[in-house]
Amino acid sequence: MANLTAFFNCDDRTMEQDPALPSLNQEPELLKTVLNKEGFRFTSQRQKILDLFQSAALGHHLNAEEIHQQLLDQGEKISFSTIYRALHVMVRLGLLQELELAEGRKYYELNTPFMDQHHHLVCVHCGDVKEFEDAKMTQVGSSESASRGFSLLNCQFTVYGICPSCQSLLS
Ligand SMILES: [Zn+2]
Ligand SMILES: [Zn+2]
Repeated sequence: MANLTAFFNCDDRTMEQDPALPSLNQEPELLKTVLNKEGFRFTSQRQKILDLFQSAALGHHLNAEEIHQQLLDQGEKISFSTIYRALHVMVRLGLLQELELAEGRKYYELNTPFMDQHHHLVCVHCGDVKEFEDAKMTQVGSSESASRGFSLLNCQFTVYGICPSCQSLLS
């Protein structure tokens, strides 16, 4: 049986983000505006990377390999270093959130603090990530931080295990 461990990950990731940042759906030119304002170059490849995250059918989480593959499928010639640089810039600007869910694997998702308080279930074998929502977990985070005098910025649980298909491969 999978050995599940949960740990609590409340950090200050959202501290530097601009709370007035409009949602990406409301503001299609947002990337261009934010990049230019912060002195970064807007490129159509950066827009295409962000578009992948906004495309609901693709789900919330992407890693660099998936982004690379999907852009290649679209006929886009792009290198890993371009992707990594674009992801890094968009994390710095608060558009994306970087999640280190499984060892050595970085995932990225659109950054929507507080609007979408979700948690992650991660397969440590294949790196598959499932999202779930549970108000009880958020309550634990907020009462714990309140009782210790913290002001809550972000609260996500990560639960590790082995997914059903990896269990059948491993048995
Ligand atoms: Zn798995
Ligand atoms: Zn997520």
